[in-house]
Amino acid sequence: MRRVMDLQAHAPLADEALDALVTVLDEIRLGRSRSRSELVARTGLGRAIVAQRVGELVDRGLVTEGDVGPSTGGRPPRRLTFRADAGHVLVADLGATSIDVALTALDGRVLAHHDEPASIEAGPEAGLDRVDALFETLLRTTTGIPGRLWGVGIGVPGPVEFESGRPISPPIMPGWDGYPIRERFTERYGAPVWVDNDVNLLAMGEWRSGVAAGHDNVVVVKVGTGIGAGIISDGHIHRGAQGSAGDVGHIQVTEDPAVICRCGNIGCLEALAGGGALGRAGEAAALEGRSERLRLALHQGGSVSAQDVARAASFGDPAAVALLQSGGRRIGSMLASVVNFFNPSLVVIGGGVANSPDQFLASIREAVYRRSLPLATRDLLIQRSSLGGLAGVIGASSMVVDQLFARESIGRWIEAGDPGGSPTFSLGRAS
Ligand SMILES: [Zn+2]
Repeated sequence: MRRVMDLQAHAPLADEALDALVTVLDEIRLGRSRSRSELVARTGLGRAIVAQRVGELVDRGLVTEGDVGPSTGGRPPRRLTFRADAGHVLVADLGATSIDVALTALDGRVLAHHDEPASIEAGPEAGLDRVDALFETLLRTTTGIPGRLWGVGIGVPGPVEFESGRPISPPIMPGWDGYPIRERFTERYGAPVWVDNDVNLLAMGEWRSGVAAGHDNVVVVKVGTGIGAGIISDGHIHRGAQGSAGDVGHIQVTEDPAVICRCGNIGCLEALAGGGALGRAGEAAALEGRSERLRLALHQGGSVSAQDVARAASFGDPAAVALLQSGGRRIGSMLASVVNFFNPSLVVIGGGVANSPDQFLASIREAVYRRSLPLATRDLLIQRSSLGGLAGVIGASSMVVDQLFARESIGRWIEAGDPGGSPTFSLGRAS
């Protein structure tokens, strides 16, 4: 019996077997099913098929059979667990003004993390050289790194064509347009690489490990230097036809020709309510003598940032509070349209500006509830991001592992044992 199982395990998998394998693995990996009987009940697959596929996953080292779980009568079930330490993932989340790198297990658990200030405007060579150096440090200084490198995930603060892994006309990333990020890392690390925009990674992180876990329809808004949204639709991340879905920061909200956006258009939401705009408005308040705290910040730092405005507001500075409220209302009005259009069960507010005092979130909430349809807001939750600075790297790791185990990818490497060791594994989106 054992021999037959082994032979099956090493023969190329038929399409149908692969479908069932992916279904069973996803159930176990995402914590939805913990035993064979739960798998049968949840997937609708037959008992014999489930037993075969579980056996195969155990043979391939992707699943372990743990202790005997609590019995509900009859033979006690054996608990099935995804082997998150079968390999590791390297990720980097490049923001407008920062780099975050991490080494994670296959379940997104962060084993080592480092962040530092960096300007994306320094260009791809400087930025990615630094990522390489930081990856090397992580690999050198982390003890007990699990398995081999299975994949690399990179996030950048601009639109990315997900299929090719290249930024396309990113407004705040001079020199990055069309840059072959994937090819660069594949060559160096010999493992599959995926690139996505920072907002989608934030959404993935909150969805897999944060406040959005368990929700199938979610909008995650990142209010940092710019404004963008990541969308979870029906239990999948929605990137759109080219990968630019959720670019809500460039929705036009005014026809005032004085509001010029860095994208080149007039009247974008980002140009009125993004972190950059908040800092500029704070500086104007300082110069016009409307805020003593902001005047001090300007005097000490030479400029006023969104963080300065948030800090002043937390001390009750009336001008700073008014700026946050007005930004929150603008974002809330835009979100009301998104809520009416998309009907999410949860809206998550993340990014640097989201760490502002409560007045910011309160203004967003008020505008959304006032301007959305009653049915769309009946059970709607609006919450702050819960993973803080780690959301991006956790999301990047989840993105990589999802792509590796996607139905269209797994067949290309599973015979080889792991994706890092498979020369035939062709890169790119599982098409
Ligand atoms: Zn714009």
